[in-house]
Amino acid sequence: MNIVIATSEAVPFAKTGGLADVTTALAKALQDLGHEVSLFLPYYPQKYAAGAAADLPLASTGHDVSVPVGGKKRGGRVLRTSLPDADVSVYLIDQPLYYDRRELYGENGADYKDNCERFTFFSRAVMEATRLLDLRPDILHAHDWQTGLIPALLKLEYGRTSQFAQTGSVITIHNLAFQGQFWHWDMALTGLDWKHFNWREMEFYGHLNLLKTGIVYSDFITTVSPTYAHEIQTKANGAGLDPVLLHRADRLIGILNGVDMSQWNPETDPYLARNYDSQTLATGKAACKADLQKRLRLPQRPEVPLVGMVSRMTDQKGLDIIAGCIDAILVKDLQMVFLGTGDANYESFLTTLAERHPDKVSATIGFNETLAHQIEAGCDMYLMPSRFEPCGLNQMYSLVYGTVPIVRAVGGLADSVVDATADNLRSGIANGFSFVEYHADALLATVKRALAAYQDQQQWRQLVATGMSADWSWQRSARRYVDVYQHAALRRTVAWYRAHPPEET
Ligand code: ADP
Repeated sequence: MNIVIATSEAVPFAKTGGLADVTTALAKALQDLGHEVSLFLPYYPQKYAAGAAADLPLASTGHDVSVPVGGKKRGGRVLRTSLPDADVSVYLIDQPLYYDRRELYGENGADYKDNCERFTFFSRAVMEATRLLDLRPDILHAHDWQTGLIPALLKLEYGRTSQFAQTGSVITIHNLAFQGQFWHWDMALTGLDWKHFNWREMEFYGHLNLLKTGIVYSDFITTVSPTYAHEIQTKANGAGLDPVLLHRADRLIGILNGVDMSQWNPETDPYLARNYDSQTLATGKAACKADLQKRLRLPQRPEVPLVGMVSRMTDQKGLDIIAGCIDAILVKDLQMVFLGTGDANYESFLTTLAERHPDKVSATIGFNETLAHQIEAGCDMYLMPSRFEPCGLNQMYSLVYGTVPIVRAVGGLADSVVDATADNLRSGIANGFSFVEYHADALLATVKRALAAYQDQQQWRQLVATGMSADWSWQRSARRYVDVYQHAALRRTVAWYRAHPPEET
């Protein structure tokens, strides 16, 4: 199939979270399965120059787009490169006014005020560039609110042209908490008729909602784990969009993300003090642990359990329940390392904690890809007590790196971590620790269970081996996406033939 993926972030060009890992890994896995993939994202020059993409050659396609944004026409260059070590074409939409900024979506805790305009432009530019490049995709795959307009543009405008007549659309929800909600006047930016600003289409309680738009207009909707697909259809977890998702339940599918083994593999990871696999885990992890303790200026104690966390430091990630039991956790003989950025109050909570317990806690405030890898490899346990978690990647990275996850059983965490109950241990499926109730006491009890299990070397080895031996690769997930694409494309083809019946002879 011929697939166009549109996203606001992709590794190694720009990343704020899991979305960037997922879009790149999916593109590569689809290409490996024999499909033709084109990946579109904005050209953020400051991120491009600062990251691993800086060495990739960037060429002009010779095409410029010019698209309506509100009352005006806005132009953009279409640049081209490809993913490192993969034959995936990457098209970057260059418009410095919108994308030559320090960050992707906002600075100092505030969103950029023109985000609706920035991503309306991007969505329209993707459609226009796809047309100019004559890509004729079978599938347009949008991701999150930033590209939510694309399925609507396909249905309401481009689908009427022969180039897109048989193109199906899919939108993936990576996190329902971010919906791209803007005041109603921003509807004018989209260039779509105001008649679509109603509760069945683009309007949501008086606002323009771009994620809802994508959900309403896509042929299929996917989200990043089966459990999250169920959770978001409930009032408790639907972030207001549960009625819309329930209405489209027959087109909503949960597909667990995979791990990009070219990036996250302890056997080949270039950031580690020593590479290892399941056979050499003991010596490899010991070297990585010693290296991590040294880097973070923690006492070099091989025997002490080392617990890590790499995360956006926000309410979603369970920082409040960590704060609720941290003193009780730190009574135990263990070390903890935190890496992340986010809410100022959580950042200062962690910094203060590290100052109060220099022998036990390290807190690095910032975004640091290298250190993230070193934490996954050097720690014995990984903490992810999320309030909600669409999929979560770090618990899967942990499993691959022989680091035992301690998680709350929600969303993708429930789909990937099997609690070390007596039954699960006996049947050999346990690979971590989980709890259900979102409460500091439940977290504390689970951390205590993990610390006790760590003392039982044989049980610990079994947990680690179970996690490391599972198939977390993207190939498995990509095959499920292909199924969805085929259904979406088929529906469009049938619709097209219905609209163009063969002439009677
Ligand atoms: P989310 O997308 O909700 O932020 P995920 O677990 O799905 O959470 O993905 C987070 C990704 O971002 C992981 O690859 C994680 O390692 C990375 N990450 C998050 N914060 C940091 C940070 N401060 N430094 C380096 N990597 C980070």
